[in-house]
Amino acid sequence: MFETTIAGSLPKPTWLAEPNTLWPAWRLSGTDLETGQRDATLLAIKGQEDAGIDIVTDGEQARQHFVHGFLARVEGIDFARRVEIGIRADRYKAMVPTVVDKLLLRGRVHPEARLARVHTRHKLKFTLPGPMTIVDTIADAHYGDRIELAMAFAALLNEEARALESDGVDVVQFDEPAFNVYMDAVKDWGIAALHRAVAGLSCTTAVHICYGYGIPANLAWKASLGSEWRQYEAIFPALASSRINQVSVECRNARVPLSLLGLLEGKDVLVGVIDVATEQIETPDEVAATIEQAMAYVPRERIIACTNCGMAPMRREIAYAKLGSLTAGAALARRKFGS
Ligand code: ZN
Repeated sequence: MFETTIAGSLPKPTWLAEPNTLWPAWRLSGTDLETGQRDATLLAIKGQEDAGIDIVTDGEQARQHFVHGFLARVEGIDFARRVEIGIRADRYKAMVPTVVDKLLLRGRVHPEARLARVHTRHKLKFTLPGPMTIVDTIADAHYGDRIELAMAFAALLNEEARALESDGVDVVQFDEPAFNVYMDAVKDWGIAALHRAVAGLSCTTAVHICYGYGIPANLAWKASLGSEWRQYEAIFPALASSRINQVSVECRNARVPLSLLGLLEGKDVLVGVIDVATEQIETPDEVAATIEQAMAYVPRERIIACTNCGMAPMRREIAYAKLGSLTAGAALARRKFGS
């Protein structure tokens, strides 16, 4: 009960990449970069194990960004043809590459998965960007239709997800921060695209939805959402009837009414008990209290304690201190609420 995991990413060592930013420049190149990414992956696993995390990840140490790390391995995208688009319903502008041809996967996206598998006996999770979030983060000059483009990406995601499963990865998670922006599209095609991405998988599947990192554009958006964030209300029933096994949502310091978690009947819920937008370190009591609040709406055996979102842009010592509180808080909850 109350296993622990993280949303996905961790800060990278400063010898590998520029710290405290979402789009870090690498500080190595060529084979040094590849070796550095592998070493950092092992450090991330070791750091999680030492903190007591049950379901560890690669910490996303080998990718620059959660969407573009995947796109970098896809043929049919012109990275020189960058255009400015408004993403997440125009919440912020980004320069994005353009799809110019039929999409194909150029070999493995995450060769580090096998390395990670060899070096940990813990359950292992890998994250991939969700099809809707990818489509929202790229320009299209070839497919001419968002749904067709999403399904094309979903097929590539499925190829990599199956390879991850063959590597021995226990959980494949899709990150879909776009899900609480385009609620109607989630029901129309977003979940169908996820189903395409998980087709044929027998490992555990998860989807992470959130209100974004603590960057200024997101903080301003959050401030505009009012005292209660009810976006999940529109999509949770559809997720509950989907074939995805787990749903990861932010709860700590979020204005999401936790009663909405009750709409996820039948799913494991990765309850975000660690706020990644503040350097203030939660106490184990605070972590246990968030778990207790979630228990009012989610059966305790379906609760997994997690971070609200990725920790990539955080200070490294803060991130790992928060992981210590996460596991201490889950242990406390086990003692207090274990039946
Ligand atoms: Zn997130």
